Amino acid sequence: MSTRTWLPEHDDIPAGQRAFEIVSLTAAIGLLAWHIVWLIAVSEPDWRRASVMILAGVLAADLTSGLIHWFADTWGSETMPVIGRRLLWPFRVHHINPRDFLRRDWIDTSGDVAALVAFFLTIGLFLPLSHIVGQMARLFLVGFAIGGLPANQTHQWAHMPHPPRAVAFLQRHRLILGRGAHAKHHRSPHTLNYCLSTGWMNPVASAIGLFPRLERLIERVTGMRPRGDYGRFLEKIEAMRTAATAAQETHDVR
Ligand SMILES: [Zn+2]
Ligand SMILES: [Zn+2]
Repeated sequence: MSTRTWLPEHDDIPAGQRAFEIVSLTAAIGLLAWHIVWLIAVSEPDWRRASVMILAGVLAADLTSGLIHWFADTWGSETMPVIGRRLLWPFRVHHINPRDFLRRDWIDTSGDVAALVAFFLTIGLFLPLSHIVGQMARLFLVGFAIGGLPANQTHQWAHMPHPPRAVAFLQRHRLILGRGAHAKHHRSPHTLNYCLSTGWMNPVASAIGLFPRLERLIERVTGMRPRGDYGRFLEKIEAMRTAATAAQETHDVR
């Protein structure tokens, strides 16, 4: 590895974590299929109303992906327990080294999101299909799962210089997050276009100033500064780069 091109990388996940990701993906996909089959078989929904609820769920999933991403970038730190190294470190690393994200396979990319989606779909099993409110809530959940489950995969596709043709088609027709839209997020200070699934909520969030408003509110209430930890992270990366350079020079001398 040339030290001139040294860049940070995410951690490879251990076997136990990978098993958890596989279980999460299997559960989320299985539960989604279960919900769809039962909705069709048991409730015979009004499809016009169903389409509205599913669309609402897809939009909510895109917004949720934006809120999680915004929270991680703005208030998170890779030193936090549990989520720090697993979730926040890769997010921060990919700002500096976007290509590092392309090393992650589908299980690594989507497993954590699947755990969250599976959790919501499990709760949804208790919503009664005999009542219209329960049916609507379940349809919303189905839309949420359809939009949410691939959110980190669509994010990864937005980083691919040459995505698969079907993916490129979906990106071109703005059915999923596009490369150009996501590239705006990668311009420092990384405060635009946080939404990662369809990206449909990005213009809405920008138009109403959603994230700056939330930041001002949280700063006023807690006194915390948005991205207050980011300077320390960049110093840490610089120290790692210096150490890698020194190690390489020592190796070259030998
Ligand atoms: Zn980001
Ligand atoms: Zn990205």
